[in-house]
Amino acid sequence: MCDSLIYDVVIAGAGPVGLFLACELRLANLSVLVLEQASSLDSPLKALPFGMRGLSIATVEALYRRGLLPEIEARRRDSDQLQRSASGARGAQQARRPGGHFAGIQFFLDTVDTSTWPFRLPGSASPLMSTMEHIESVLSARARGMGVDIRYGCGVESFEQSSDEVTVQAAGKTYRAHWLVGCDGGRSTVRKVGNFEFSGTEPEFTGYSVEIELADPDQLAAGRHYTETGMYNFQPPGTLAMVDFDGGGFHRTRPVTLVHVQTVLRRISGMDATVTALHLATTWTDRAYQATTYRNGRVLLAGDAAHIHSPLGGQGLNLGLGDAMNLGWKLAATVRGTAPHDLLDSYGAERHPPGSQVLDWSRAQVALMRPSPSSRALAAIIGDLIETRDGASYFAKRVWGASLRYDLDRDHDLVGRSAPDFELTDGTKLGDLLSAGRGVLLDFHHEAPLRKLARRWGDQLLYVASDAKDTLGLTAALIRPDGIVAWASEVLPVPEDCAMAATRWFRQIE
Ligand SMILES: Cc1cc2nc3c(=O)[nH]c(=O)nc-3n(C[C@H](O)[C@H](O)[C@H](O)COP(=O)(O)OP(=O)(O)OC[C@H]3O[C@@H](n4cnc5c(N)ncnc54)[C@H](O)[C@@H]3O)c2cc1C
Repeated sequence: MCDSLIYDVVIAGAGPVGLFLACELRLANLSVLVLEQASSLDSPLKALPFGMRGLSIATVEALYRRGLLPEIEARRRDSDQLQRSASGARGAQQARRPGGHFAGIQFFLDTVDTSTWPFRLPGSASPLMSTMEHIESVLSARARGMGVDIRYGCGVESFEQSSDEVTVQAAGKTYRAHWLVGCDGGRSTVRKVGNFEFSGTEPEFTGYSVEIELADPDQLAAGRHYTETGMYNFQPPGTLAMVDFDGGGFHRTRPVTLVHVQTVLRRISGMDATVTALHLATTWTDRAYQATTYRNGRVLLAGDAAHIHSPLGGQGLNLGLGDAMNLGWKLAATVRGTAPHDLLDSYGAERHPPGSQVLDWSRAQVALMRPSPSSRALAAIIGDLIETRDGASYFAKRVWGASLRYDLDRDHDLVGRSAPDFELTDGTKLGDLLSAGRGVLLDFHHEAPLRKLARRWGDQLLYVASDAKDTLGLTAALIRPDGIVAWASEVLPVPEDCAMAATRWFRQIE
């Protein structure tokens, strides 16, 4: 059976990345169909404790710029309560507030110095915690509210592309679209059927996240412990994570049984622990692979479909949402015919490097976690460095995603970075101006040439002439729909030709 509609875009996968991308595309009024393999989004693994996700500064900014942050934050308060009860007395006893970790080595907020990070205004975004369950429910409600068609139990099985469309087979039906985006997770069918090259490094371990009951929970010390055979992190009464350096051999080869969990726990902890019940279990590895290109004709990849790595340090979701924020407006402009011919390729060019850095970040953590004397010695050195102000600030900048900068034509140090959240004299913030998904030209000095230029971009660009409470010394700035600064000036009068050149990404102006 064939759906007679031709959609602008079909997205495979209604995970957080697919849903967020769908919302981005609907901002530009594209027709979007999301095909999801699972029959519903519900899964106990998406709730606490295993569904907890750290959202980086870049993600918080993206959610804020699309008006989604209040909903995520409202639910965060529930999560905070649940997390406190999940981590029990140990969490409450911790006098210093942790800011994140590297291979389990924590840094603390009281040591992080963000004052040296460039272009940060007071009240800048900070990272937060939420759960997959909450994030997906907020995003799916938003997507549906915007008119996205989401079909569950409809896994993409194969597809074919021609020069002007993609024909997708899913659950016995055929769908047609001008573009297909694979947001279908680490084992992406779109990536495999689309013959995307996927390269990287094989795993060293199998990781376990399990919810158990123990005959004697007091036998296991709470917290994270490195041993001669691996690592375990126990949160009483029964939440346990383990890393077993088995070369990743167990992962997805056999079911995770109570007996197996007990065997691995005894081996890693050296304790004669007895597991009396196994309530929930999942495994993962440190396999680190990335698609060498994120586009093949009319087919694109985003999120885990484009890159996989261990969940250490919690970066995959942030990376994927960053992909969606970068891709959405570019694909929309391409569909609408307003994009320069190479705009869509800048998606892969810009997003591949941060993906590759995250893979290396996770590999570096694995090197510190190996059960070897040299890794323990190295971990001790990192532990000393992370306690210093510079050390903690460095790790925070990386873990919180504050170091992101795209390699754009640079004539100002702000170009390629996330725009500061300028507050205009009437109290409007840049974040509010970006909520419609349009680019913004901020003209702090009411420059006539910029006003004239903006008229030529029509309704695709929001031109705002206003002073700001703190302009950080700028006279004007051009902000892309994804909140990245494309051009900035500190001089007066603003050189019109520079502003014009900077709009290449936005629209071909002859
Ligand atoms: C234990 C753990 C902790 C983590 N902690 C963090 C963290 O703190 N911070 C962070 O940033 N990241 C974290 N991550 C990683 C993060 O969860 C993933 O990177 C993120 O979920 C990727 O989102 P996605 O939408 O790309 O893929 P997914 O969430 O995997 O969603 C893909 C969707 O596609 C569907 N699908 C699959 N195949 C098909 C098909 N053929 N057709 C249609 N649909 C299909 C799936 O059912 C699924 O709904 C963690 C991961 C784990 C395992």
